[in-house]
Amino acid sequence: MKWWLDGNLIPADTLSVPINTYSLHYGLCVFEGIRAYGINGRRSIFRLDEHVARFFASADMIGSPIRTCSAADVRDAVMAVAETAPGNDLYIRPLYYVGNGIMGLRAAELEQHVAVTAWQWSTDRSHSRYTSGIKVVISRHLRHKDYAQAKVSGNYLASVAAVSSIPAGFDEAILLDEDGYLSEATAQNVFMVVRNEIHTPRVKSCLNGITRGAVIELARRDGFRVCERDITPAELLAADEAFLTSTASEVLPIAQVESRALASALPGSYTSRIRQSFLDLVQTR
Ligand code: PMP
Repeated sequence: MKWWLDGNLIPADTLSVPINTYSLHYGLCVFEGIRAYGINGRRSIFRLDEHVARFFASADMIGSPIRTCSAADVRDAVMAVAETAPGNDLYIRPLYYVGNGIMGLRAAELEQHVAVTAWQWSTDRSHSRYTSGIKVVISRHLRHKDYAQAKVSGNYLASVAAVSSIPAGFDEAILLDEDGYLSEATAQNVFMVVRNEIHTPRVKSCLNGITRGAVIELARRDGFRVCERDITPAELLAADEAFLTSTASEVLPIAQVESRALASALPGSYTSRIRQSFLDLVQTR
């Protein structure tokens, strides 16, 4: 497989960065996670334009706009890397970083790099995580509003800390924002179903997930009412159903929040219908 760096396709195992790479020291590394699905022997990249737009928007949000290439370049690079892969089911990761740092935080004058890497990867949908649901805790680590909508490496410190403090027997952690409302899981958006309606935190202190957007569209198309609003942890504990969404996890049912099993038998009927609509969308284009 070949990866892409600043305009060139390069054998994957030969790419590396120098130790004084600015982004390695200061958390300024913007990235995306994109799925390619093999459908009837051909490859389909899910919502590539949206991912590329978020990639550039993330860099803008943190005041470090990407100058060295255009959205069309990144789009072409993603497709070129995918072409070199032996299979069609892939996880593709564009990455923008600032290199060759000297001491100090000023990044504006430093060189920028854009890379695109990829792995062969697919979701194991028969895993018990999907058939029986996962158990989540409410984390004591907070997602801060500043930059939460940017997919930038520095933001993942809260996720890494939350993951490392998940107690034995639980699978995931939901982070709250500074106001005490739900933000998102460590790398997924969160939804709940209450009295036949679907509720999810508004995009304030969470990433504007591309799976989240697709799920909201599909749910509305299928006649469900969807509310984007501030949600308290107590409301999640009292929900009928809940699920997480992300590029990697797709639609992942939640069986238990803290010590409380959710009301609906798993997989909950709303979660199942939304999940099926999402799988139809990604598998039949
Ligand atoms: N929140 C965070 C913090 C994430 O890392 C991700 C994964 N990109 C998501 C939400 C879900 O976003 P998407 O559906 O675009 O993968």
